[in-house]
Amino acid sequence: MYYIDPHIHMVSRTTDDYETLAKMGCVALSEPAFWAGFDRGSVDSFRDYFRQLTETEPKRAAQFGIQHFTWLCINAKEAENVSLSREVLAMIPEFLDCPNVLGIGEIGLNKNTKNEATIFLEHVELAVRHNQQILIHTPHLEDKYQGTRMILDMLCGDSRIDRSRVLVDHVEEHTIGPVLEAGFWAGMTLYPITKCTPQRAADMIEKYGPERLMANSAGDWGPSRPTAIADLILELRRRGHSDAAIRRVVYENPVEFFSQSARFDFTHPDARQTSV
Ligand SMILES: [Zn+2]
Repeated sequence: MYYIDPHIHMVSRTTDDYETLAKMGCVALSEPAFWAGFDRGSVDSFRDYFRQLTETEPKRAAQFGIQHFTWLCINAKEAENVSLSREVLAMIPEFLDCPNVLGIGEIGLNKNTKNEATIFLEHVELAVRHNQQILIHTPHLEDKYQGTRMILDMLCGDSRIDRSRVLVDHVEEHTIGPVLEAGFWAGMTLYPITKCTPQRAADMIEKYGPERLMANSAGDWGPSRPTAIADLILELRRRGHSDAAIRRVVYENPVEFFSQSARFDFTHPDARQTSV
């Protein structure tokens, strides 16, 4: 089955992973900007990272027939450095017209601090000013519920935000309801053991239905499984869901959400021209 991974950090993955994803049915993916595992020292580090996301990764992905899209920001962990964050925010518009940039993300909160909230709101301002979609990171574990509430309150307090153009990722059982009820899209991030497993994601799909719901693998430099969406497809098949119902979550929903960006120039694999 063809699928799209809406949140995967391919800069952390090998070229072999691209090949495996392609063999599993992945035809497109989107890669939000995130924390590199260490705090970067200058705005030029981010400029180089954004060049990697807009120039290098699309070429690596294309070797395996995968279309690569991306989102730009300074992540919540590094937002504690407010002056560096503002330098990055001022530089982001240099890249907003790159052909694979879908919007601003993954912005959000990490420890729910005042500085994180300040920089989150400045990213939202940037997105509104440039008519960009937004991809949200919600905190993990004990900070998740409060952080998600803070994010939803900030977004819902701004009447300029079109909630159908915002994806809130890393939802779990205790946060998915408020996200969907407020009119946002929700993304379940699948991990092999900790946090949300494919089984728990399948339970949430059964409880909430497929509308405005997606799944992603995160696939970063930590313990993660880049092929986690294929695991979810298998789990849903095992439970008797039809291929049409599964495709809605893993393929049609990402296409619908991303299509709100003018730069989502995606071609269904069956419609792609072959040169042979
Ligand atoms: Zn991420």
